[in-house]
Amino acid sequence: MNHLSILFVTSEMAPWVKTGGLGDVAAALPAALRRARHDVRVLIPAYPALLQAFPDARPVAELPALAPALPPARLLAAGLPLLLLDCPEFFARAGNPYLDAHGHDQADNAIRFGLLSRVAALLGQPGSPLDWRPDVVHLNDWQSALAPAWLHYEGGAASVVTVHNIAFQGNFAADHLTALGLPEHAWRFDGVEYHGQLSFLKAGLQLATLISTVSPTYAQEIQDEAFGYGLAPLLRHRAGALRGILNGVDSTLWNPAADPALAVPYAANRLAAKRENKRALQQEMGLDFAADRPLFGIISRLTEQKGLDLVLTLGEGITKLPAQLAILGSGDKLMEAGFRDLATRFPGQIAVRLGFDEALAHRIEAGADCFLMPSRFEPCGLNQMYSLRYGTPPIVRATGGLADTVIDVSEATLADKTANGFVIAEATPHALWLALERATRCWHDRKLWQRIQQNGMRRDFSWEHAAHDYVTLYRDAIAARH
Ligand code: ADP
Repeated sequence: MNHLSILFVTSEMAPWVKTGGLGDVAAALPAALRRARHDVRVLIPAYPALLQAFPDARPVAELPALAPALPPARLLAAGLPLLLLDCPEFFARAGNPYLDAHGHDQADNAIRFGLLSRVAALLGQPGSPLDWRPDVVHLNDWQSALAPAWLHYEGGAASVVTVHNIAFQGNFAADHLTALGLPEHAWRFDGVEYHGQLSFLKAGLQLATLISTVSPTYAQEIQDEAFGYGLAPLLRHRAGALRGILNGVDSTLWNPAADPALAVPYAANRLAAKRENKRALQQEMGLDFAADRPLFGIISRLTEQKGLDLVLTLGEGITKLPAQLAILGSGDKLMEAGFRDLATRFPGQIAVRLGFDEALAHRIEAGADCFLMPSRFEPCGLNQMYSLRYGTPPIVRATGGLADTVIDVSEATLADKTANGFVIAEATPHALWLALERATRCWHDRKLWQRIQQNGMRRDFSWEHAAHDYVTLYRDAIAARH
């Protein structure tokens, strides 16, 4: 099999710049493709954290102003290999790559990520300043999804757009069409126009050679009005070009047998040591040392999407199950206040840490008995897979990647050894309450719980599977483009 040259374009990448699942994928998928001997280069803005991490980055190309609103920029080559898009006036900003200090979208996001998209396209075109040519340009989420527009209207490599969350679309005022240097004839319902605006994601979904999203169930769901955020008709129209590929888990970073963040390592055949991690977590978060009740864990962006308002509603009930609750998250200010209030009312039983803390996330996965993720929608979700690997059966709603990875405990699924968690159909307090009760009953049956834990820990979530499916997608895109 010949090896492919792939330009992977992303606006975030763990461990340096990460706000969610895309950051993890951008680290793990290119690495897995490289292990399969493909030539992958990652194009990402030169944020301060990356310039700091790669002090030896060296200039490989000077880019002129590519459109009226786009300033000149440089490409730096570094490490992995990375291509850093160096444009200090756009990217030399500390903190979250999309939001300002007040949590609002940065006012110039359209041209910041317009530049990322334009450069991504250029590197797939004959006019590229590099002597390296990708066979396929892989764009991720709205921030780079405008690139296929130039590749479509001007020619260039095959393109693939992956949707990590269709709720974020990058819709901006119409005058960005000329500001970003797109041709006037791109302003069509089957071009980049979307309800009178320029839409980055719509453009990508319309014009990319092939499109994908991060789980098979989400690929179906986004064709439905209830999940498509307005783009369902377009996705139904392009259903033949759309695939769902489940994300993997980086098993070097998320492995309870060799996780430097944990108090004690453990594995499927050494589950007793997991209890010491529970005790350590109780201590760290100021929870009572209670061994007679399950500890539920949450690690999440605090938003409507994640269904955590249901947990807020049930907070007091959880303490009466009885059970404990450990929450790590940040986001919606009202929700943050709600969780802080719960922790104040039930000290020793409910503990909350507001903020982003990678190491504590690992300790919650290891120390909790059971993980809560009742999302209203979930393109793939990573935390439920981490939970499965850490022997912390998740309670999830049947949506997106949650539906593709968590198998509800029943007589049948226990018999065929697939039962690995608890699945609710509806995002209602009542449905979640029944699942919490059911999980608590199962937890009290040690032998049963251990079977559920081991079923989850045995399942293979390695990136090798996903990388293989992406290579097929790339080859199909290349064939379709010719
Ligand atoms: P999403 O991308 O919608 O936020 P995912 O489950 O796909 O949800 O990915 C979330 C990633 O971010 C996971 O790696 C999770 O552990 C991490 N994460 C979310 N919130 C926090 C937090 N407050 N502290 C540490 N890690 C977090």
